[in-house]
Amino acid sequence: MALPGQPAVSPCQSCGACCVSFRVDFHPAELAGGAFAWGPGVLPAMTVPVTANIVRMAGTDASPPRCVALAGEIGSAVKCTIYDGRPSPCREFDTEHAACNRARQRCGLPPL
Ligand code: SF4
Ligand code: SF4
Repeated sequence: MALPGQPAVSPCQSCGACCVSFRVDFHPAELAGGAFAWGPGVLPAMTVPVTANIVRMAGTDASPPRCVALAGEIGSAVKCTIYDGRPSPCREFDTEHAACNRARQRCGLPPL
């Protein structure tokens, strides 16, 4: 999900579908204080361990999934509460990604 860096009219600010649709896995080096942390990095308490080399945003493998870092209401107004330190899968995912409309459809939102 891309938010503050996007134009004010970004559909992401009233969507959030990808944050309630996919597992978000990344290397522990992106955790806060890690060698590859973006900005403040991700607080370990917001993640669950998967393997020695993978951690997962908590909630993204729940049923139904919802990332613990997401605030707001899907399809209305949402915000990533760790935007500056969000992990690489979230930085690489935006409205150009093929799975964007898949996530939106899953949440009952129209394609972009
Ligand atoms: S599903 Fe697409 S439009 Fe919705 S928040 Fe994610 S990237 Fe933005
Ligand atoms: S870290 Fe932020 S952008 Fe990534 S899935 Fe969670 S709420 Fe969405």
